[in-house]
Amino acid sequence: MKNSKRKLVVIALGGNAIKLSNERGTAKEQFKNVAVTCEQLVKMNAMGYKLIITHGNGPQAGNLLIQQEEGNKLVPAQPMDIVGAMTQGQIGYMFQNTLQNYFRQKGKDIPIVTVVTQVLVREDDPDFDDPTKPVGPFYTKEKALELKEKKGYAVKKVKPNGEKNWRRVVPSPEPYGIVESDCIQALVDAHAIVIASGGGGIPVMKKSDGTLVGLEAVIDKDKAGNKLAQSVNADIYLILTDVENAYINFGKPDEKALGKITVTEAEKYLEEGHFLAGSMGPKVTAAIRFVKAGGERAIITSLKNAVDALQGKTGTIIVR
Ligand code: ADP
Ligand code: MG
Repeated sequence: MKNSKRKLVVIALGGNAIKLSNERGTAKEQFKNVAVTCEQLVKMNAMGYKLIITHGNGPQAGNLLIQQEEGNKLVPAQPMDIVGAMTQGQIGYMFQNTLQNYFRQKGKDIPIVTVVTQVLVREDDPDFDDPTKPVGPFYTKEKALELKEKKGYAVKKVKPNGEKNWRRVVPSPEPYGIVESDCIQALVDAHAIVIASGGGGIPVMKKSDGTLVGLEAVIDKDKAGNKLAQSVNADIYLILTDVENAYINFGKPDEKALGKITVTEAEKYLEEGHFLAGSMGPKVTAAIRFVKAGGERAIITSLKNAVDALQGKTGTIIVR
């Protein structure tokens, strides 16, 4: 690909790209997982794509929140917006370090930078009254209902099958703008690989005098990733998770993997309720928004199929 024709891909990485569900989340484990992801990113760079990476932070923020609670006797606990900023730095560092080392081995010197990113939300977003975003570990129904009783958590069923298919949910307001989008654009124009809007970004609301205030909420990273992709006029929005495709009739005997579909088909399936809220739902919603706003295509697939999906060989690909 010629430099001017290089396509810009915004890649949204799921939690499994950094911490597997059966892991505790040690630094060693997380670096190992980040390395697997970075191998894919290096391939995409070699294919000529310009890259912006965004990522989830559920397990890391969950662990940090426990540290805030447990360490409160010694040092003051930090609120969720600051915990969000901390995880952006933590995960951004792991990607910067790992990618830089891979590229140096290849004799390439590519600037790689993490941008601590604030994302605008509205104070009157209905989600503040009815929380929808799953956070923290998976529980059995019994355990979830016990936590609801004892700690006042809002809890919901997030998967159709399995023993532990319940989770705590917190408010997840809609993102409407990326505060640092001009900085991110400038970095991409300067040929940097940028890591931004981690964990869905730090939710902030704009007061009438223009000041920004951080909030205790979690923005869905796939929806914030779409805002980011739109704000930098990305060509492709690539959402990587732990399933190769989005399915209709998911978890049922007649489930069917979706390949290349139009926005209209995706909207129909979304309305029919095929994609669960808090997991596949926001991915499909974000993909539809991206293509409707002028993006070339949005792709939903698994990490190991990322390169094949970019070449149109697999994954759920949403086009106009
Ligand atoms: P990530 O950390 O990548 O955001 P999520 O757990 O939020 O991952 O979303 C991926 C999950 O969505 C899958 O593991 C799957 O269990 C769930 N899911 C819900 N509905 C569907 C569907 N219709 N097709 C495929 N996966 C679905
Ligand atoms: Mg998710």
